[in-house]
Amino acid sequence: MFLNKIIDFIYYLTNERNPAVMIFYCFIVLALIALWSFTTVPHIPNSHCSILEGISCFLLILASIWSFVWTVRSNPGYITRDTVTAVFDVFPYDNFIYSKASFCEVCQLPRPPRSHHCDLCKRCVSKHDHHCAWVNNCIGEHNLFHFLSFLALHTLALFSIFHTSLTALCLTICSSHGIRCPPNPPLLLLCFTPSMRTLAFVSAQRPWLFSLTLFSFLMAVLLAFFTLLQLRQALSGLTTREKWKFSKLQALSRMAKSLLSSPADLSPSERESLTADLAHPSKSIYGLPFLQTVKALVSPLSTRPRTPTDQACYTNLKSQEDWTPILQKYAADCPGFINRTRFSVVIQRERQTIQERMQEMNRKKLDRQKKRSQKEK
Ligand SMILES: [Zn+2]
Ligand SMILES: [Zn+2]
Repeated sequence: MFLNKIIDFIYYLTNERNPAVMIFYCFIVLALIALWSFTTVPHIPNSHCSILEGISCFLLILASIWSFVWTVRSNPGYITRDTVTAVFDVFPYDNFIYSKASFCEVCQLPRPPRSHHCDLCKRCVSKHDHHCAWVNNCIGEHNLFHFLSFLALHTLALFSIFHTSLTALCLTICSSHGIRCPPNPPLLLLCFTPSMRTLAFVSAQRPWLFSLTLFSFLMAVLLAFFTLLQLRQALSGLTTREKWKFSKLQALSRMAKSLLSSPADLSPSERESLTADLAHPSKSIYGLPFLQTVKALVSPLSTRPRTPTDQACYTNLKSQEDWTPILQKYAADCPGFINRTRFSVVIQRERQTIQERMQEMNRKKLDRQKKRSQKEK
């Protein structure tokens, strides 16, 4: 009974949208604010940290918390009856990553290109990037800017906490031991670099202030790295999933070329299918010039005003059949729409190879077991 409850709880944590990581985040933030208030604030201002720097740090902490709430409460771009056609209009099929019309059985709506159904949120999201457990929300077309602000503000706040706590740590240690502090703030770092003995000494003298300084530094560097990575990704115009699919399709395309170079292994229909797959361009059509990419982050393409005829509301459409004409319309707008998974021949061959290898491994295992039992007899 108790074990079942534990299993149910683990299932809930891993398969349902839940606030567990968000609660952990709140706990870390509260602990950081408490540590900073009790260990660093009493030493501001000092000769290396002005009152203005102290106030900026406080404002950055407030801004980070605001960006967290803003991202948690944001709509990532859920696909609804009212928004689905707008997403189709701005993101047509590219015949590369999105080459097949699909319908979401859970949302009971067509799934436009660049949309993905989140298994945790149980909704389809436009230009879905990923589900972020820290904000317990999906990151998609409408809230990528919220998420980038969340990351950037947290990085700045952590660097600011690191700066103020480092000056406080250095000054308190220096003054309690009658040592003259280095005059230049960057030189304060030298207080801690010389040896493990110095580190051990400092951590023993001011354990809480030392922990805060070290933690804020490590987290700031980690978050700065992640922010730059996410910013680079956002400016490339592709989502995390698209980037992965892009490289996978490139590999499949190479395999298709090598299969075509040995035509004896292929049936005429397979050859025809592979030739058709390779005929389509293998590059993204969603990339925009730099300024337009930045503008699309702040003002998502699918939310921009459209002509009245486009703003039709499809509230009466209930089943997949009802939606078929709409899907056909968007498919017709895509030149040479193929409506099938690309490189299905290569994928099928790969699956066969894996199955054959598994069968071979099982056969060898059985042979070994037989030989062992014969020896025992
Ligand atoms: Zn869905
Ligand atoms: Zn989600």
